[in-house]
Amino acid sequence: MGNVLVVVEANPDGSLRKATLNALGAAGAIVKRTGGQIHAVVVAVDARPLAQAVAPYAVSVVYTASGPSFEHGLAEGVTPAVVAAVRAAKADFVVGAATAFGRDVLPRVAGKLQAAMASEVLSIEGTGSDFTFTKPLWAGAVIGTVKLSSPIVVLSVRPTEFQAPAAGSAGEIRELQLEAPAPMRTRFLDFKQVLSTRPSLTEARVVVSGGRGTKGDFQPIEALADALGAAIGASRAVCDAGWQPNDLQVGQTGKVVAPQLYIAVGISGAIQHVAGMKGSKTIVAINKDPDAPIFTVADYGLVGDLFTLIPELTAAIEASK
Ligand code: FAD
Repeated sequence: MGNVLVVVEANPDGSLRKATLNALGAAGAIVKRTGGQIHAVVVAVDARPLAQAVAPYAVSVVYTASGPSFEHGLAEGVTPAVVAAVRAAKADFVVGAATAFGRDVLPRVAGKLQAAMASEVLSIEGTGSDFTFTKPLWAGAVIGTVKLSSPIVVLSVRPTEFQAPAAGSAGEIRELQLEAPAPMRTRFLDFKQVLSTRPSLTEARVVVSGGRGTKGDFQPIEALADALGAAIGASRAVCDAGWQPNDLQVGQTGKVVAPQLYIAVGISGAIQHVAGMKGSKTIVAINKDPDAPIFTVADYGLVGDLFTLIPELTAAIEASK
């Protein structure tokens, strides 16, 4: 008993999404306490390649469900297959990453299973079968500890908080036998993929984020990001103004990032922004106001005009290469 089923997610190009490995890390922390096994489920048009990619990561069995109705990963279509895999795996825990896909699918799975759910889980605490989960409340201003007591428990976990497991020998792959899919009430309309040569915001080791202080001129931010091989982020003020696309927004209502280095440029440090980046290993703030709240979470601060400081910093980085 104590088995965990991990819901596997693909990148738009069909490859394994790194956040799934972090979810597998969380599953590992659970089975260490329960003595159960880790299982996984891949639901896709052709699930086999993704199943083969995930099988070596401490997974005993990968269940697959393939078919045209799973195109675009719509929650309504994916959920019955995940529920079937929960039954096949005799899972007591269903775990997925707290990504857009996980936030869509996992509550639906919890509803179908009549299961309690904790979202955005940060850590698993306690020993033996008596363990709890921590999760952020009020934009991370408070960390809550929750205990879930339904027979099956569903968790979405923050990818930034769990280490990916090491790859080992591959587990078994089994195809799920599913009933014919019911007609769906959800219809896929459009997917606007933002293509960039820069690293993905949630997976980059370095992030340079710009705020309203840029006045919409991101050229210095882009030059610094390119010098560092970094991803670009933005505050909500910047995205709301239409200066940068919404998918660059960092914060409570944007993306949660935890890179090795986060450079906040012309960002005041509102609690909602800080909620999305305070897990970063090293935080550098550049702001002309010495009293800006961002300096209270920064490890290093530079007070001055970004339009002078950022080109100087970029030139110094380029010169040191
Ligand atoms: P400002 O607060 O206007 O700060 C601009 C900063 O730039 C100032 O500190 C100023 O000193 C500095 N500056 C100006 N000129 C220069 C210069 N030349 N050189 C250097 N520094 C300069 N915000 C988010 O970011 N992410 C979220 O996910 C998010 N979610 C929210 C959810 C809710 C429900 C609400 C109510 C708000 C949310 N917000 C979010 C908005 C948040 O409260 C702030 O309004 C926003 O973060 C401010 O963005 P900013 O720091 O870029 O702008």
